[in-house]
Amino acid sequence: MNKPNIVVLGAGYGGIMTTIKLQKLIGDNEADITLVNKHDYHYQTTWLHENAAGTLHHDRTRISINDVVDFKRVNFVQDTVESIDPSNKKVVLEDGELTYDYLVIGLGFESATFGIEGLQEHAFSINSINSARLIRDHIEYNFAQYNNEEGDRQDLITIVVGGAGFTGIEFVGEIANRVPELCQEYDVEASKVRVINVEAGPTALAGFDEELVEYAMNRLEEKGVEFRLGTMLKKCTEDGIIVEKDDEQEEIKTRNIIWAAGVRGNSIVEDSGFEVSRGRVPVRDDLRTPDYDDVFVVGDCAVIFNEETERPYPPTAQIAMQMADTVGHNLKQLLNDGEDFESFKPDIKGTVASLGHTDAIGVVFDEKKLYGRSASIMKKVIDNRYLVKLGGVGLLLKKGKLDMYH
Ligand code: FAD
Ligand code: NAD
Repeated sequence: MNKPNIVVLGAGYGGIMTTIKLQKLIGDNEADITLVNKHDYHYQTTWLHENAAGTLHHDRTRISINDVVDFKRVNFVQDTVESIDPSNKKVVLEDGELTYDYLVIGLGFESATFGIEGLQEHAFSINSINSARLIRDHIEYNFAQYNNEEGDRQDLITIVVGGAGFTGIEFVGEIANRVPELCQEYDVEASKVRVINVEAGPTALAGFDEELVEYAMNRLEEKGVEFRLGTMLKKCTEDGIIVEKDDEQEEIKTRNIIWAAGVRGNSIVEDSGFEVSRGRVPVRDDLRTPDYDDVFVVGDCAVIFNEETERPYPPTAQIAMQMADTVGHNLKQLLNDGEDFESFKPDIKGTVASLGHTDAIGVVFDEKKLYGRSASIMKKVIDNRYLVKLGGVGLLLKKGKLDMYH
């Protein structure tokens, strides 16, 4: 008898943790497991802002899939998913096709561009190892270029970040630490460099604890970051950006535009005909799609709602990992004609955002506020716990943030 084939798409937090759960839970004779990913490595998206700023090498962030997944148990396919055909249980890859009995979609997020003119062409976004190292090299090149150009080329050493959500703030925190190093390396006067964070809303980190937001903004301003709140980025050009505040438009000249103003689910999912809400699949309680009993969605491609607020939970690595446990359990039930399906309930343990390597803000365990060094240590503890969960103490020793004070 043919064994059922479980195919997992994407080796981000959701996909890789589902695969690891399945390789533990599902016997060799119960099902085949296939994992498809664009690269032969998994990366910790939550560290990409550091790679993009150049404060952490990307090899610390990426982890060979072979090191954490058992290739004797799991068939790994390095390829790019182009589309999914759920009616025919088929996945179209750049280099072939796969059929499945059960599918887990974990293809992650992409930047939401809101149709802003020139954004695709002129802005960078932090969404993969490749995009992060491009940002790092681009900024460094412009600093190097500065003293090779005639006239005042302030645009080369002006860095604009669109969006003061967690990604924008974390990136700004890292780049503020990196600027002094860049200035020293390329003989640029530090006082000339501008780091501008443009946020459409009235505050940074909307909805987060106000005291902590104020702390974060003060600390970043002390390091030279200029906040432009209530200011909408309207257009990007080769020379810079156009922003609008109170119906007044202004041009900011810059060659370094980093767009960190929101994410949506991978558009492959929507383009494949799955029901989506703002690019993400409104999954059932058991994490299956509304229309297909054999398709699960984990991580940023899925949207789940907070029953109390009736608003969607923000997509996070924390939730993606928890979803992997539920999907693993429910797939085991499906394979064995079981009925003990688990309903997914996120268990939010807190939120901690870094402001550079030694500073952070956070709310953890029942609303306990943390800031400064203690929040920064907490962030590293969270990151290190993930590494242990993924690949044990060996992986922690190889990739972990073990020096808590730097
Ligand atoms: P991802 O982690 O995005 O993984 C998707 C995977 O799919 C990748 O391996 C990718 O290569 C692969 N893939 C994509 N397209 C294809 C394709 N077509 N074919 C094959 N493979 C493909 N959340 C937190 O909880 N805490 C944090 O501190 C935090 N910090 C963050 C910092 C930054 C800078 C950013 C950008 C996000 C942060 N988040 C954080 C959010 C978190 O990173 C995401 O919610 C999480 O990565 C979602 O996991 P995922 O598995 O859905 O997708
Ligand atoms: P976000 O949606 O949280 O924030 C985007 C920000 O961009 C908003 O403040 C919005 O007002 C602003 N914005 C939108 N359009 C704009 C425009 N045209 N001009 C200026 N500003 C504009 O997105 P994000 O920061 O990319 O985060 C994505 C997800 O990843 C979230 O769920 C977040 O919680 C998660 N994340 C978590 C952490 C952490 O826990 N440390 C870190 C990074 C990201």
